[in-house]
Amino acid sequence: MIDRIDTFLHKGKRKKLVDLLRQKGCTDEQVLAAINEVPRHTFLDSAFLNFAYDDEAFPIGEGQTISHPSTVAFQTQLLALKKNDKVLEIGTGCGYQTAVLLEMGAKVFTIERQQKLYEKTKLHLSSLGYNARFFYGDGYEGLPHYAPFNKIIVTAAAPYPPDALLKQMAIGGTMVIPIGKGAEQIMNIIQKKSETLFERSELGKYKFVPMLKDKSR
Ligand code: SAH
Repeated sequence: MIDRIDTFLHKGKRKKLVDLLRQKGCTDEQVLAAINEVPRHTFLDSAFLNFAYDDEAFPIGEGQTISHPSTVAFQTQLLALKKNDKVLEIGTGCGYQTAVLLEMGAKVFTIERQQKLYEKTKLHLSSLGYNARFFYGDGYEGLPHYAPFNKIIVTAAAPYPPDALLKQMAIGGTMVIPIGKGAEQIMNIIQKKSETLFERSELGKYKFVPMLKDKSR
């Protein structure tokens, strides 16, 4: 059962989390304001409720995890969102990252390959009043019919930046993607300068669940 009530206790814990994220180096006040709004405890199973505002990752079913709040903060900060940016998210998971993007005024298109998570998260986010476009599919393919995207955020570990996603970036757009095949990955930020020119930089080590091919397994 999900605890939907947002109490003063939850709000207080969120404020403390925001202070912690600031100490850990998050400087984007818009990201921090969004994290201060999104009721993370409603995204977690009741067993983890007391820890919902700790900087920890938790299981969300189907062998997947919700990312650490500091990872969400860091990836979102790297996106440098502008209001009304069209954002493609790969790996909806429990939808916490999706909600943070929506709080910041982005138009969000999000893909999940696990059908159960896709269905559960779609319901949960709508019940909180968050409107994203949800897709059950394979993130390696992106969403060609809705491209180009100003920003792409990948929340699973990719072995390489998928071609389809590079193609679907707007010129001047940014993709934030953890790349690596082992237990740890390197956060990459890719800027699209022209149809054929991309600039890439690397920003620290992270641990994500793998981005798996095709949605049928
Ligand atoms: N943003 C999520 C993080 C979830 S973990 C959150 O805040 O909860 C990564 C998610 O990526 C998992 O739900 C996993 O099922 C999904 N995933 C893995 N490979 C994928 C693929 N090829 N396409 C779409 N989603 C994928």
